[in-house]
Amino acid sequence: MKRKLTYLLCLALLVMSLAGVSSVSALQDNSQKVSAKLNSAIHSNSAPKYIFMFIGDGMGFSQINSAQVYEGNNNYGEVAPEKLNFTQFPAAGVATTQDSTSFCPDSASTATSLASGVKTHSGTIGLKVDKTTVAPTITELLKQQKNMKIGVVSNVTINHATPASYYSHVQSRNSYYDIALQMADSGFDYFGGGSINEATGKEKDKRSAYEILEEKGYKIADSNEEILALNKDSGKVYAVSPKLQDSGAMPYALDTAEGDLQLADFVKKGIDVLDNKNGFFLMTESGKIDWAAHANDAKSVISDVLAFEDAIQVAIEFGKKHPDETLIIVTADHETGGMSIGYAATGYDTAFDILGNQKMSYVAFDELIGKMKKNDADGLTFEEVMPVITEQFGLLAPSDAIKDNPMEMTAGEYKKLKDGFTESMKSVKTKNEENTLLYGTYDPLSVSITHIINNKAGVGWTSYAHTGVPVGVFATGVGASQFNGSYDNTDIFYKLADLTRIKTK
Ligand SMILES: [Zn+2]
Repeated sequence: MKRKLTYLLCLALLVMSLAGVSSVSALQDNSQKVSAKLNSAIHSNSAPKYIFMFIGDGMGFSQINSAQVYEGNNNYGEVAPEKLNFTQFPAAGVATTQDSTSFCPDSASTATSLASGVKTHSGTIGLKVDKTTVAPTITELLKQQKNMKIGVVSNVTINHATPASYYSHVQSRNSYYDIALQMADSGFDYFGGGSINEATGKEKDKRSAYEILEEKGYKIADSNEEILALNKDSGKVYAVSPKLQDSGAMPYALDTAEGDLQLADFVKKGIDVLDNKNGFFLMTESGKIDWAAHANDAKSVISDVLAFEDAIQVAIEFGKKHPDETLIIVTADHETGGMSIGYAATGYDTAFDILGNQKMSYVAFDELIGKMKKNDADGLTFEEVMPVITEQFGLLAPSDAIKDNPMEMTAGEYKKLKDGFTESMKSVKTKNEENTLLYGTYDPLSVSITHIINNKAGVGWTSYAHTGVPVGVFATGVGASQFNGSYDNTDIFYKLADLTRIKTK
C-alpha cells in the first residue's frame, strides 16, 4: 500500500511539473498560448456548452515531454523544456488505462472507456464486457439529451478504433465496413481527417460507404477548396484530407508541405460547421502519434505531437472568445512503444538536436527505397542507399577523417544498419526471435535507422506495441478542476456526464 501511495505521489508530482501547476510564472509567461480567462473558469459549476476532447493516441508522458525537450533548451546550465500549450492547463490528472483483458490495452477498448465509461475486451468497440450490450457514448447522449452538434476528427482513417468508439458499437475493431455504415447512421454533424478504411468491404464487393454517407445526407468535401469553404450552413459533412499516406490516413506532419491541410485545419472547420445555439462536442484524435511510436520513430512522434498542439491551439483561441462556456480536455488512450527519455548507451545525457537531422518519416523513407528498388533491375546495394540515409537522416559512416561529429556511427551502429539493409532486401524475411526484437513487423532498414538515430539522441524504446503506464489528463475551461487527481479512464466519461448533467442510464 505504501509503495502504491509513493507511486501515485510521484505520478502526481510528474503531472504537476509537466502541467506547470506549481509554477504561476510559467502560466503568465505563456499567456499568448493559454488564456487567463479560460483558466479562471475551472471551478465553474455551469455546464460547458462547447466541449473539445483531444486524444493523443499513444501519447504517454515521454511522447509529450520529448516534444518539450526537442523544442527546449539543451544548453548546459540552462536546460529547460519548452512547454506545450496543454501542459500549461491549470487542471491535470493521471488516468489508468487497463481494459478488461489486458494491462497493455488497445485503442478500441480504451477509447470505449473514454467515450462510454465501461471496461471491455481489447479490440471491442462500444460494447460492454459481455460483447453484446451497447454502451451509449457521451456523443450519442449529448446529441439525444441536449441536442448538441457532434464532430469526430482523426488524422488516421475515420473508421479506425479511436474515432469509431465515439459513434459505433461492434465486437471487432476490424469490422471496418460495419463501422463505416454505423458512421453513416450516427446522424453526427461533422467528420473530418482521414479516409474510410475498406470503404467497399474486405472483399471489395460492397456498395461504397461514401455513396451510403451521401445517401444519408452527408456532403463529402475532399479538396482543399471544398473543405476550406465549409461553414455552419454546410449541413452534415465529411471532410476528407485530399492528401493521404499509409493506408488512407493523413500524412505524418513531418511529411507535409506548405499548403497541405493539417489536423488544426480540420478542427477549425469543425468549429465552423458545428457552432450553433445548443453547443457542440468535438473529439479530435491524433492517431499518427501512435503509429509513429509503434514504429519507434521519435522524430515523427515529436512532429505529430507538435501538430496536435497546433490543433489544440485552435480550441484555445475559440475558448478565449467563449471563456465561460468552453471546456478543453487533452488526454491519451494509452502509451505506445515504451518510449523513454534516456537510453542505456547515453546514460545521463540527451542530445535531441540530433533528431533535427531527420527529414522524413519512416513511411516516406520506405516509399522512397521502394521506388529506388523498382528502378534498379540488378538489385539495390548498400553503397547506393547510404547517401540517401545520410541525406534524409544525417547519419555518417564511421571514418577516421571525421572528428567529434555526433552523426558519425560507431562500428556497432554501422553493422546494425548494414544488417538491417541486408534483411530488408530479402524477399522473404527471416523469422526468428532476434529479428522480432530488432525489427518488430517493420522494415528492417528504416527501423534500424530510427533506432540508431533515436538512441544517439538518448531516446529508448521497449516495445512495438502499447504499454500499461498511466496517461496524463490536462484540462482548462468550464469545470476543468474535475479532472484534477488520479483516477481511471472510465471516470473521464462520468466526469463529463456530471458536468453536462446528462442521464447515463
Ligand atoms: Zn496503437
